[in-house]
Amino acid sequence: MKKILITGAAGFLGSHLCDRFIKEGYKVIGMDNFITGDKKNIEHLLNNSNFEFIDHDVTEYIKFEGSLDYILHFASPASPIDYLKIPIQTLKVGSLGTHNLLGLAKAKNSRMLIASTSEIYGDPLVHPQTEDYYGNVNTIGPRGVYDEAKRFQESITMAYHRFHGVETRIVRIFNTYGPRMRLNDGRVIPAFMGQALRGEDLTVFGDGSQTRSFCYVDDEVEGIYRLLLSDYAEPVNIGNPHEITIKDFAEEIIKLTGTTQKIIYKDLPVNDPMQRQPDISLAKKLLGWEPKVGREEGMKITFEYFKNLTEEELHKSEHKDFTGFINK
Ligand code: NAD
Ligand code: UDP
Repeated sequence: MKKILITGAAGFLGSHLCDRFIKEGYKVIGMDNFITGDKKNIEHLLNNSNFEFIDHDVTEYIKFEGSLDYILHFASPASPIDYLKIPIQTLKVGSLGTHNLLGLAKAKNSRMLIASTSEIYGDPLVHPQTEDYYGNVNTIGPRGVYDEAKRFQESITMAYHRFHGVETRIVRIFNTYGPRMRLNDGRVIPAFMGQALRGEDLTVFGDGSQTRSFCYVDDEVEGIYRLLLSDYAEPVNIGNPHEITIKDFAEEIIKLTGTTQKIIYKDLPVNDPMQRQPDISLAKKLLGWEPKVGREEGMKITFEYFKNLTEEELHKSEHKDFTGFINK
């Protein structure tokens, strides 16, 4: 039985990856410190004999007994509000955390895949974004803590690959959504859906002309799965190229949810990328992968998930409390 360690297991993407690898017959070891994740996302796995959970901060030395075939490093705050609130933890998990995991991969002779992001392209001057674009990032801006942590993560991963011969994979994930996103993480989909369900106006930042391209979680997981099993060590974009402005997207959500509320406009966050769309030619050629779930279908499934949250969860709209983590 192949053994895989998944960091960030209690988060949105990490928990879906745990489900997928369990389904594929792997022994899955999930690791998380719950800083932005939730036990609820993995509760259904806790009694599964092929699943083991380790409560650990990956920025601290990782002691692991036994063999390990694969490592997926998905631990990191991922929403702009999360990484603004915990900037140092964000830098540490991308740098020290990645270093620890690469050391573990080297010691165990494991293949390791890291979760990089479209954010490494910054506010892109090339459109759509291809893997050979170097990006346009403000290192000292508020998003710099995330973008630079992820850029460092790619560099150290390539260094371990080239210098130590560790087998590595790099996925550049573009905005992914689906059930188990945290309602109050500030990302646009939970934000709009939560607002619609609570009967609040939808907050569009700026004039809403900035674009994003949203990928449904099952498609993203399929792309990551194929990349892990491929023999390609350089970065690969995995995302859905179907691009939309945030204003048009807010209108779609109003229609989908049937809310009678309106759009209100708020300030655009500093360095908010103005356009984002993955060029997925490489993933198509290399992995035979492309997304299958359209936005309409994916948003319906996601809205059903949020609709089924309890009243208490729905009204816990204030941001997650990070007290207890911040002095670590
Ligand atoms: P998430 O916040 O739901 O999950 C991240 C998980 O990592 C959480 O459970 C959190 O508690 C855990 N974590 C953070 N720091 C940790 C540490 N030091 N030690 C142990 N666990 C720690 O976010 P997500 O959307 O699931 O993102 C997962 C990964 O995918 C991140 O690396 C993110 O940068 C990347 N990514 C996600 C998207 C997206 O659209 N969802 C886009 C690009 C990249
Ligand atoms: N956004 C918005 N209203 C919100 C939350 C986000 O208009 O309540 C915008 C945000 O400014 C950005 C886009 O939606 O242009 C996507 O934001 P998100 O935080 O989901 O992810 P990003 O792609 O910026 O990391």
